[in-house]
Amino acid sequence: MTVPAVTLTPRPDDGLGAGASAGAILELAARGDFHRWEAQLAATGHCASPIRLQGRIDAIDRATGQARVMYDTDSEPGGVLRIACGNRREHACPACSAVYKNDARQIIRSGLTGGKGIPDTIATHPCVFATLTAPGFGPVHTTRTDRHGRKLPCRPRRDANQRRCPHGRDISCSRTHPDDDPRLGQPMCPDCYDYTGHVLFNACGPDLWRRFTIYLPRQLARLVGITQKDLRDQVSVRFVKVAEYQTRGVVHYHAIIRLDAPGQDYQPPVARYTAALLGYAIRRAAAAVSIDTAAHLTRLNLKAAGTDDTAAVPVVGPDLARILRFGTQVDVRTVRTGISLPGTGSELSAQAVANYIAKYATKTIDAPGLPHRPVNGPRAIAALRCGAHYKRLISVCWELGKHPATAQLGLNRWTHMLGYRGHFLTKSQRYSTTFTGLRQSRITYRRAQRYPDGEKDPWGREIREQTVLVISKWQYAGTGHVTTAESQLALAAAARARDHDRIAREEAWMN
Ligand SMILES: [Zn+2]
Ligand SMILES: [Zn+2]
Ligand SMILES: [Zn+2]
Repeated sequence: MTVPAVTLTPRPDDGLGAGASAGAILELAARGDFHRWEAQLAATGHCASPIRLQGRIDAIDRATGQARVMYDTDSEPGGVLRIACGNRREHACPACSAVYKNDARQIIRSGLTGGKGIPDTIATHPCVFATLTAPGFGPVHTTRTDRHGRKLPCRPRRDANQRRCPHGRDISCSRTHPDDDPRLGQPMCPDCYDYTGHVLFNACGPDLWRRFTIYLPRQLARLVGITQKDLRDQVSVRFVKVAEYQTRGVVHYHAIIRLDAPGQDYQPPVARYTAALLGYAIRRAAAAVSIDTAAHLTRLNLKAAGTDDTAAVPVVGPDLARILRFGTQVDVRTVRTGISLPGTGSELSAQAVANYIAKYATKTIDAPGLPHRPVNGPRAIAALRCGAHYKRLISVCWELGKHPATAQLGLNRWTHMLGYRGHFLTKSQRYSTTFTGLRQSRITYRRAQRYPDGEKDPWGREIREQTVLVISKWQYAGTGHVTTAESQLALAAAARARDHDRIAREEAWMN
């Protein structure tokens, strides 16, 4: 009997119900098929909630018509094959989200320094790290620094007349908030704060970003003095971007934006396209782009109603009409090469940028008490343990989801995201490699390890489409581990594997 080399510390709060008894775990480990179960688990990357499949693969000899079984889940532990759930959320599956995060890091890094099929010369292309912020929706407690990085008071006001808002609240703050101050991001007057504008900005953020990516080449062409068509023959704008929540609960974007020559071979653009020029175009595009919510919502409503008669769709009243723009604080820094524009700050190393941006790949909101799933209705919102500001944002999301004019934003499904409906990581085609590409190379690698001499058919020949017909039949048999003992062993093994990966990665990066 082999006892698995993992330390098990069942916790009552691990969401798995009562902990498995030591007896149940020993019983699992003593089973004849334990090793096969362990191997399946390892093949899923120690997924916390694997998808169970039943099925078989048959091979038919095309010449003789003879059929033989290549694989049958009947021979597997529990009669099922387990495959990874692939969930990107850390709370849903720590193992699969770690795989996703690592892939994201590889995608980001290879676009900066090469590797994974991208030439190393990519590091010489004009490339910037840009941060596009959200605008203000009312005064909030904040941290500010001067040019030398020294901390400044939050919102000092010398004149007593300027200190009161129309609601009579003091909207000055002479404190210098520490970084973990729970007041940070909280409005000084909730009644002055534009909660509707804030939620609409989160909800329309992906559209605003999309418009920015359309404006950017336009600005580049204008700066160089050529048409957009000519620009397309000279240069391609490629990017990867992540969304991050600021403490006030509004999304802003960090992006790596790079210029390549057109085409698929990652060649540098002609010399006139510098990082400085790119930075200048980014600032102009960010300043120019906007969304008029009245027009935008009306367009969505017309589309949903399948009409072009504006009288037939809800009127977007002044309560919902906003002009959404990026904030004025657009930060653009050159990544390693090229000349910085005056006042754009220091250059950044590719490694620092990759680390910084990868951090956000699987992260959602980092605020205590914010739910993982949509919150439905006022009672559920009132029961949340988060602060009043987030509660109010969630409420507004809920109300806008019910409002006929904003119904098309589907905000009731995004209450827990404070209205943000987009992905946390998006990239242009050919920024670098893809998630699919990385997954495929893992499959190829595993197959090569499993069949060092090539995969054989049931007659011992090399598998060829011309000689055998391979038929697979699969059927869904459930999700998750079957017993508590299995769940706990899987979680413990996953934690151990992640530690191992983390140490290996840190060691690799230090050298
Ligand atoms: Zn999983
Ligand atoms: Zn303050
Ligand atoms: Zn006020």
